[in-house]
Amino acid sequence: MTSELEIGLYIFMLAGFLGYHVIMRVPPLLHTPLMSATNAIAGISLVGSLVVAGADYGVFSTVLGFIAVACSSTNVVGGFLITDRMLKMFKTAKDQAAQRRRVDPKMLLALAMLVVGLLVLFYWSEQLRSDAAYFFREVLPTQALSYFYIISAALFILGLKGLSSPKYARRGMFLAEFGMLMAVVGTLFHHEIVTFKWIIIGFVIGAIIGGIMGLRIPMTAVPQRTALSHSLGALAACLVGISEYFRHSGELSKVTMTALGFEVIVGGLTFTGSLMAAAKLQGLLPGHPITYKGQNIFNLSLLAVIVGSLIYLIIMPTAGTLFYVMVGLAFVFGFLLVIPIGAADMPVVIALLNSYGGLADAAMGFMLMNKIQIITGSLDGTSGFLLALLMCRAMNRSAINVLFGAFGKIEKVEGGPAAEAKGIVRSITSEEMAVLLDGLRSVIIVPGYGMAVAQAQHGVAELAKLLMKRGIDVKYAIHPVAGRMPGHMNVLLADAKVPYDQLYDMAQINPYFAQADIALVVGANDVTNPAAKYNKNSPLYGMPILEVERAKSIVVLKRSLNPGFSGVDNELYYDPKCMMLFGDARESLNKLFAALRL
Ligand code: NAP
Repeated sequence: MTSELEIGLYIFMLAGFLGYHVIMRVPPLLHTPLMSATNAIAGISLVGSLVVAGADYGVFSTVLGFIAVACSSTNVVGGFLITDRMLKMFKTAKDQAAQRRRVDPKMLLALAMLVVGLLVLFYWSEQLRSDAAYFFREVLPTQALSYFYIISAALFILGLKGLSSPKYARRGMFLAEFGMLMAVVGTLFHHEIVTFKWIIIGFVIGAIIGGIMGLRIPMTAVPQRTALSHSLGALAACLVGISEYFRHSGELSKVTMTALGFEVIVGGLTFTGSLMAAAKLQGLLPGHPITYKGQNIFNLSLLAVIVGSLIYLIIMPTAGTLFYVMVGLAFVFGFLLVIPIGAADMPVVIALLNSYGGLADAAMGFMLMNKIQIITGSLDGTSGFLLALLMCRAMNRSAINVLFGAFGKIEKVEGGPAAEAKGIVRSITSEEMAVLLDGLRSVIIVPGYGMAVAQAQHGVAELAKLLMKRGIDVKYAIHPVAGRMPGHMNVLLADAKVPYDQLYDMAQINPYFAQADIALVVGANDVTNPAAKYNKNSPLYGMPILEVERAKSIVVLKRSLNPGFSGVDNELYYDPKCMMLFGDARESLNKLFAALRL
């Protein structure tokens, strides 16, 4: 083993280990920002792309490098902007009362540094011709590059560490942004870069697209934006790999070929897989799982052909046609991997694809022997994998189930104890609900996916404020997998300006239910199903739930008795303490406000 490879492997392992400990400390409250932050950091593929776009490697490589720069910078700019947008929303009641600053001085500083950095580089490369410039052109670049990368790596880790508390999260992300700036500026010193033309054009295009995606996309579309961003980052990694293979006409060492092969395969399948995920979530493709007979065998056979091709290429790296066929098959495999998975399971898939994207970046790092890419790729890979595992654990799904893609198709359990529990359902009107709210002392609001569908978070926040004005104690109960992405409810409620110190996670809130006068369930279903505690036949069995049934009375806002994501009937609705306020959650809340004003 070459010592460089050995060092690379050590770095990869240590960064993964560090990433695990840092990311485990990120609270569920910040899981959605974590997803977009790691997505932005995964834009580190920009570093490799810059060199390919700016060096004199031939037209083909320059074109691929240019596309890769545009894709990666979309990730970086869009990812950091949307993360900042989200983090700005997470405030305590005290923060909300405090005066807001209009312009963020940190952003201005970062922008100023970027502009100055680019101008200085232009000046060096185009103007300096004297001997004194030798130091700046030849010596400083190599020195600067390694120092810039070391600082960037530290800043990325500190940035992720900041996400362990909403208080320090924005500061942390600023450090990560600064780290990215340093890595990019450092790379511009790379001695092989001879022109900045395609770098600048690619960056501007990517920054515009990323800027629009980061600033304009509604919070409810964060999962599909993240998926789209993953696909671009993975495409960048794949294109850089293809460019390197083409440039060397396959004359590569076994180690480089292994890393490059891994990079293009994982990059390729992540590109198409993430595109599919984004299209399913956006409703451009049918959200239901598409399955056919022998699907798993076909997919596994295809994977075996891809792996077999890579092994052959490691032995015979100059087999060019096989290389391009292998890349094509990896693209096809990405599509096939995601089509049997339902749209509701996409958050798990996105987290996994995030992890694959990180691994593709790390592979690019091994191929170019670029340590910052190995570190960030490892961090990203760990983060995505951990998030996927945490989601699975909260949903009581096994990791094996996720890894082998056999999910998204949950069978309905007919005739189980939940169905037997069917009895009388009591419904109430908004007017009756208004009367019920009189004379209460404590209310626990339980939001779920239906609140997101109805866009009822603003109504919920308004109701909570009104109740608090009446001296009623209001708490929000947040289940880790309520909604359809990690931290979904936190982001929506933050968007409705609910202070995060009013949000309680499952372990914190469950002891309070017994004292609550009303548990107000707004569009939540599975996360409140008591069957999860004892019914071994239920797909929900073993999933920790919000113990709503322990409240003195329960009011559920939903349109019908239809099941939620799991397809399981909820016996809570037949509890004598439970009252159903049927209708779209937002409309029901509007009617309730009207009744309260009477
Ligand atoms: P849920 O079990 O999916 O139930 C949502 C309920 O919202 C439905 O029963 C639906 O009933 C109601 N609803 C839909 N539109 C509505 C509207 N306009 N107004 C009022 N109600 C409406 O949701 P959940 O309790 O939040 O549980 C989340 C589920 O998703 C869990 O099973 C979890 O494992 C899964 N999941 C979560 C994640 C994640 O990361 N958060 C990822 C993947 C899967 P009606 O049709 O009767 O209105």
